[in-house]
Amino acid sequence: MTKTLSLPTTIAEAQEMLRNKKITALELVNVFIHRIEESDERIGSYLETCFDSARESARKLDESGDFSAPLAGIPYSLKDVVSKKGLKNTAASKILENYVAPYDATVAEALEQSGAILLGKVNTDEFTMGSSCENSALQVTKNPWNTQKVPGGSSGGSAASVAKYFGLFSIGTDTGGSIRQPSNFCGVTGLKVSYGRVSRYGVISYASSFDSVGPIAPTVDCVAKVLEVIAGHDKKDSTTVDVSVDSYSQLQLSDLSGKTIGVIKEFIDADGFDADLKQSFKHTIQVIKDLGGTVKEISLPLTKYAIPTYYLLAKAEASTNLARYDGIRFGKTADVNDLYQQYTKTRSEFLGPEVKRAIMMGTYTLSAGYFDAYYVKAAKVRTLIKQEYEKAFAEVDVIVAPVTPFSAFNIGEKTSDPLAMYLADIFTVTANLAGICGLSIPTEKVHGLPAGIQILGKAFDEKNVLEIGSVLEKQYGFSEIRKSELL
Ligand code: GLN
Repeated sequence: MTKTLSLPTTIAEAQEMLRNKKITALELVNVFIHRIEESDERIGSYLETCFDSARESARKLDESGDFSAPLAGIPYSLKDVVSKKGLKNTAASKILENYVAPYDATVAEALEQSGAILLGKVNTDEFTMGSSCENSALQVTKNPWNTQKVPGGSSGGSAASVAKYFGLFSIGTDTGGSIRQPSNFCGVTGLKVSYGRVSRYGVISYASSFDSVGPIAPTVDCVAKVLEVIAGHDKKDSTTVDVSVDSYSQLQLSDLSGKTIGVIKEFIDADGFDADLKQSFKHTIQVIKDLGGTVKEISLPLTKYAIPTYYLLAKAEASTNLARYDGIRFGKTADVNDLYQQYTKTRSEFLGPEVKRAIMMGTYTLSAGYFDAYYVKAAKVRTLIKQEYEKAFAEVDVIVAPVTPFSAFNIGEKTSDPLAMYLADIFTVTANLAGICGLSIPTEKVHGLPAGIQILGKAFDEKNVLEIGSVLEKQYGFSEIRKSELL
């Protein structure tokens, strides 16, 4: 395949090739399809593909000859919780294994209008609950850097597929870290948007006050280009906010002079933070200084309550959201005559262990007698955490932080210990508790695997976070490492 040689590795490269007729949309789509057919069996990122419709859309685009739409001809995937009419939307759960979406999510519709070409749906932890993709009831996804390792989760299919050049971007979701952590494990770039920046309409819910939808892509510029298309107010999602959509992809910053960048003391001192990753993070602090940035240590003492607060609230919301999977309204039904039996049997048979744990924990903390002691208390702590971040952002432009306390771990290593798995989210959940935005970018390799940082910004300050991320990305040049190893 001579075309494999001309595979564009960023959205900008693909656009340049399409607009200057160096490649047709059909050829471009075929190059990515070829890669998926050739090597996704080893990675397991796609759950369902739609190559025929992808080729059809590409042909139409070629016939029109008009590549002016923002993402015209750019191949991508959707995490299997984002509805695309006519395709399955399984949430990687047995209960929705045969469920076909009857309508498009707002993001899927926006991407279609932008000319992007959907290649298929990718794996996730069941109902997006997890940090390794191992909770998928349908398939194991492996880390393309080392197939013994997990790709992270829950958007593990998105991150692995982008890392292995099975598409030029993917749409994931982040409730407690599910975009940033797998992006980190797979050496790609992922943005958790501010709560209310991108519509959740048509996206299967986990914990509605935390869920956010955002891009995973090869570079900061790619993420920015996708964000421009999917951000904005949506009358079908009343939690989206009517804040103007910036020109995210006009990235102009060349160094960090004049920027004050916060570093959270409690993150650096966190128990279980791998020594080599800590060293790598400390090096980033030096890089920031060398680029002219002012680094300021900040203390966020409530950080120690973040994991229990997050899991308490997220599981409570999950237990409510998952009540709809009762065997009657959606998906599979157990074969029994009695109605009560039908509810219990359907849910017992077709929901996985982590999802059942969420339902039980959440129902417990919402029940009379425990509601005030657990749910209300956690909600109050959440408000205090949010206030801590607001105070911090009065002193700094952005915060730079590690993404995960350890590198991608072995498949099977943490599956028997849910608490150890929850601790993977120690550096990510606060952004969701506070509703702010965070960009995960790869920096270098540590332990033979990608390592990286996240840049946290105040709510709706995505532009600033992307600008600073882009400066650091250029400094590190991780894309070249990824190209040389995974292309
Ligand atoms: N691992 C976290 C959880 O299971 C976060 C998952 C996510 O962000 N969707 O809740």
